[in-house]
Amino acid sequence: MPLDETHDPRLQSWVESANRPDTDFPIQNLPFCTFRHKSGSPRVGVAIGDCILDVPDYPSLNALMAAGRAAAAEERLRLSRALRSDNKYPPRDLLYPISECVFEVPAHIGDYTDFYASIFHATNVGSMFRPDNPLLPNYKYVPIGYHGRASSVVVSGTPVRRPSGQIQTGDAPPVFGPSRQLDYECELGCFVGRGNELGRPIPIAEVEDHMFGICLVNDWSARDVQRWEYQPLGPFLAKSFATTVSPFVVTFDALEPFRAAPFQRADGDPAPLPYLHSANDRGIAVTLEVWLKSAKMAEPIRLSRARFDQMYWTLGQMLTHHASNGCNMRSGDLIASGTVSGPGKDERGCLLELTWRGTEPLALPTGESRKFLEDGDEVILRGFAEREGFRRIGLGECRGTIC
Ligand code: MN
Repeated sequence: MPLDETHDPRLQSWVESANRPDTDFPIQNLPFCTFRHKSGSPRVGVAIGDCILDVPDYPSLNALMAAGRAAAAEERLRLSRALRSDNKYPPRDLLYPISECVFEVPAHIGDYTDFYASIFHATNVGSMFRPDNPLLPNYKYVPIGYHGRASSVVVSGTPVRRPSGQIQTGDAPPVFGPSRQLDYECELGCFVGRGNELGRPIPIAEVEDHMFGICLVNDWSARDVQRWEYQPLGPFLAKSFATTVSPFVVTFDALEPFRAAPFQRADGDPAPLPYLHSANDRGIAVTLEVWLKSAKMAEPIRLSRARFDQMYWTLGQMLTHHASNGCNMRSGDLIASGTVSGPGKDERGCLLELTWRGTEPLALPTGESRKFLEDGDEVILRGFAEREGFRRIGLGECRGTIC
């Protein structure tokens, strides 16, 4: 999918707020969402500046996702032309201020899968539990993942209730009670576009035809519950109580100027097996940030910032691997990347890493400290892509407050 007129950095919109340099949603972005205006029924929309334009061509975002990459590109071109400042007949009657809109989870998510694709995250977490052997031998061969829970995926702004679960400490038997080690995980999500038939894997050379767009994902995690339950089958109730997604899906067409070389593996690392290798496979140069606002804080503070092109596996490799046994992926399915962490201390995408399992608490400007999340804490994920010669685009925000 080459660069085209929709990426032209000179384009301006008749929606004035889309022309401000700090907006996440200039006319070069055009991310899709599912919204309701006041008490209306759910509609497909596209974000432009601080407004949403109704997209009447599709009954649901799943329908647009299922239509495939070419249809999505066509819709993007049509919307770009309709929103340009030189459009003589701007569709003002289809435009709504974001402040008057309520957002839903962008698509109906049939299945949700979470991966573990940051080698920095995997090494940090592994070294807390296995100092001598932090990275298991399968890591550099298999994009590790687990089947998550789709029913508890919620949209940004939905309060997150602290879960209870079995917690075991020291030599005592486990007790059932509220998690005391509630954490967030900053991740990137990818919505599946066109699906594949059961029994027909997706070749890596074709995988981007099956990828629609990206969003922010907070994979909330109860670490105390996780530690006791995760062996031998992996995460279960420590993760399935809530997963928050941002309302806006930035398409791969919008991301075209920000594609990057895949992660450079260290000398001595195995090459990906042939079914996971393509000369055309690319990463995405998106930067993700985590911000925290406790109930006492007037403004949030930034806890970390990491780049998605540092992930060991690309989204294309994750989706190819997922379907490699013939598993059928369906339009609207969500795959998440796993915690996005980089090599630096300020690039750690969860509190488990940032506070090193609670042994190095964070000092907040209010005098409070944090090992894990407290009630009233709001976690805000943000993401953006920028490159010289192109308009910066953003992913919006993914917010959740613990109650
Ligand atoms: Mn996760």
